Amino acid sequence: MHNRIYLCLAHMSGEEQKFIKEAFDTNWVVPLGPNVNGFEEELKQFVGGDREVVALSSGTAAVHLALLACGVGPGDEVLVQSFTFCASSHPVVYLGATPVFVDSEAESWNMDPQLLEEAIRDRIAKTGRKPKAIVPVYLYGMPARIDEIMAVAERYDIPVVEDAAEGFGSRYDGRVCGTFGRYGVLSFNGNKMITTSGGGALICPDAAAKQRIMFYATQAREAYPYYQHEHIGYNYRMSNICAGIGRGQMTVADAHIAHHRRLCDLYRELLAGVDGISLHENPSPRYESNYWLNTILLDPALHVAGEAHAYETAVQGAVGGAAGVTHAAATLRTDCEPNRNVEAMRTALDAAGIESRPLWKPMHRQPVYAANPRYVNGVSESLFARGLCLPSGPCVSEDDVRYIVERIVAAIR
Ligand SMILES: *Cc1c(COP(=O)(O)O)cnc(C)c1O
Repeated sequence: MHNRIYLCLAHMSGEEQKFIKEAFDTNWVVPLGPNVNGFEEELKQFVGGDREVVALSSGTAAVHLALLACGVGPGDEVLVQSFTFCASSHPVVYLGATPVFVDSEAESWNMDPQLLEEAIRDRIAKTGRKPKAIVPVYLYGMPARIDEIMAVAERYDIPVVEDAAEGFGSRYDGRVCGTFGRYGVLSFNGNKMITTSGGGALICPDAAAKQRIMFYATQAREAYPYYQHEHIGYNYRMSNICAGIGRGQMTVADAHIAHHRRLCDLYRELLAGVDGISLHENPSPRYESNYWLNTILLDPALHVAGEAHAYETAVQGAVGGAAGVTHAAATLRTDCEPNRNVEAMRTALDAAGIESRPLWKPMHRQPVYAANPRYVNGVSESLFARGLCLPSGPCVSEDDVRYIVERIVAAIR
């Protein structure tokens, strides 16, 4: 029997322990210190340009502080890509503001610049005020049409917070994703391109912006001999131990990205002759995805073994598992779910010891956002109905990919 193959498990370089040991030996077991400074400097070199980087406790914290720094507050609206993980939009709510969802274009699967402009005009017409920020996302590592998004944002003078949590090292027109807008979000959660166990970073436009983010990330302390507070802050700084893991990971960051891309090449080669299944790839040479997760779409007409019985049993092991789900599902079905052939394929792969996962369910179809304004064109909902994420991480071997495609083909009827 095959070892279970996961989507994207963390993979250590071996250098991490050296940095962690140094932190213990020098007694820097706190949320600042030499590893934090070193990690920030290495990230700054990695993203290039004249940007500054602040290491934080999570990508979610980075989104939160970026929005705060853009002046988002109670009663404001923020335009967020609907096709994303919840951490792009939840921090808008933390700030008492309202996420307004914008759908994707079919090429990159990310924020549709035309729909974005329609949304801005309509929000101004309806509320008399401009949205306070725009949050495009690099879903699965694929660059967005960020040049067009920036042009729209500049036309209306609205700051852009790029959610590059999944797009670490991806490039558009040769420039690193996360360095186009005012702020860029990175995540080092355990399943991302590189990990610090849990952590994130915010790419900032300059040293003054970095100072401001650090101020809010360390409880907004004023420089007095005693605790003096004139603003509300957060405990969001990265610990020196986590940053040590990050420094070890930076030694393999380029190798990880190359590995994800190599797996994409192999998926392309092996899936080339398989009817009804299409791999999502760079739409043109302007896009250089890191292929954090390789994703496929299943033609609705494709038949998969067991599809007649899809959704009859609850997902096993979801609650209490490694994914951190703690709430049991109330029902087997919802009013917006992947097609039966997708669920049957997921189940077939699962039985073969292969983890796969539906594409992220659009935020505008999430019950928690049922009342939020949305500007939709059907693209993200249609992708959600048809798509699956396949194992793509540094622990996935080329033999694993051959086995995965073999099981995919075997499940087709
Ligand atoms: C993972 C992720 C985040 C949040 O990062 P955490 O470090 O897990 O808080 C934000 N946005 C997207 C799109 C993500 O995938």
